Amino acid sequence: MFSPLNDLRDAQAARDPWNELRRRVLLTAMPALILACLGALAIQYPVFDPLDRVALPALITLFLTLFVLTWRRQASADVAGGVAYAGAALYFLLSINEQFRWYVGKYQHLNEATYWFSALYCVAFLTWTTRTALLVSGFTFFAALVVGGVNGVLLAGRGEFGIRAFAFVLQFYLSSFALIALLTSFSHIRQRLAETRIMAYADFLTGLPNRRYGEELLAQALGRGRVGVVLMDADHFKRVNDLYGHHVGDAVLRDLAQVVTATLRPPARLVRWGGEEFLIVAPGADTVTTLRIAEDARAAVAAHDFEDVRRVTLSAGVATRLHEESASDLLRRADTALYAAKHAGRDRVRVCEMHADAFVPDTRTDAESGALTVGAD
Ligand code: GH3
Ligand code: MG
Ligand code: MG
Repeated sequence: MFSPLNDLRDAQAARDPWNELRRRVLLTAMPALILACLGALAIQYPVFDPLDRVALPALITLFLTLFVLTWRRQASADVAGGVAYAGAALYFLLSINEQFRWYVGKYQHLNEATYWFSALYCVAFLTWTTRTALLVSGFTFFAALVVGGVNGVLLAGRGEFGIRAFAFVLQFYLSSFALIALLTSFSHIRQRLAETRIMAYADFLTGLPNRRYGEELLAQALGRGRVGVVLMDADHFKRVNDLYGHHVGDAVLRDLAQVVTATLRPPARLVRWGGEEFLIVAPGADTVTTLRIAEDARAAVAAHDFEDVRRVTLSAGVATRLHEESASDLLRRADTALYAAKHAGRDRVRVCEMHADAFVPDTRTDAESGALTVGAD
């Protein structure tokens, strides 16, 4: 079902700068990783480690492919990040295994390449939500622990796992663990901030987008050309509060938001403009379409059986953007039309087709007649 708050969430997610940031980070990280792999091969030249000889060219090919796909937007940041992570994790696990087999017994510590393991965990938290990242990095950590544990026991059995090697390996695992814990905290904070951002744009009572969001929505729509607005105000709402109490008034506003939302089709959106006022922003709508939107909303509210109160009506003022008109001028005309609707007896729609100063009040949609008449009598 269409829920205003979910709608707001989806819109926010689509506009979330974090998605684009992740893509850019990946586009920067891929060439850096390719350079790191090339560097590792160059350092070893002319005698290559048997694993690196196969794995590093394979990783370079993988990162290059992912870079191109991400660049051309053929792969999302999620997918590209996931595949890059899987490739790199496999390489690091194999490399740790190799180290335990050929290096640790001889030198009694892990080599410098191990430092890069922590980058894996950072990539996981950059790519996924806290839960998934924790799961993925936890699994990687566990796999590294198994590789180290089995090899450690084998080394110890041969008397090649001294206290120095043990302390080194222990620090490797402890620092990885601490890093995962820190990344989890940061990821939680980031998710909280994203939620807070959504709440900053939502109206607490109705769950609708609030005026701040509405103003941004309107500015966005105006940037794209034609747009219609419907400014709506519940009729005699003070009486509702006076007769039934504020809590009933609140419930009516919540119902009213739902009833009007149910009459809308995207891209038209309902916003709680403030108090008992609501605004519909209809991108791309001309006057006839905006009038129909307003009339549908008015009729739906008038026909709805509100709990306790039974009948509630609203008046609406319609305006569609004139050439290069500003948001405030457009809203001022909608307000003028709303005033005319109130003045004409409420529960009706009025349209203001020219600048507010030159408003012609006989341009109307009357609730009684149900007619959609635009223009002078
Ligand atoms: P009109 O038809 O001219 O618009 O009359 P009205 O009574 O609706 O207009 P008025 O501006 O006099 O009163 C608006 C009322 O709306 C007063 C205010 O208490 C009520 N109101 C505004 N916001 C809320 C709210 O969030 N909850 C409740 N329960 N009432 C609210
Ligand atoms: Mg009002
Ligand atoms: Mg009112």
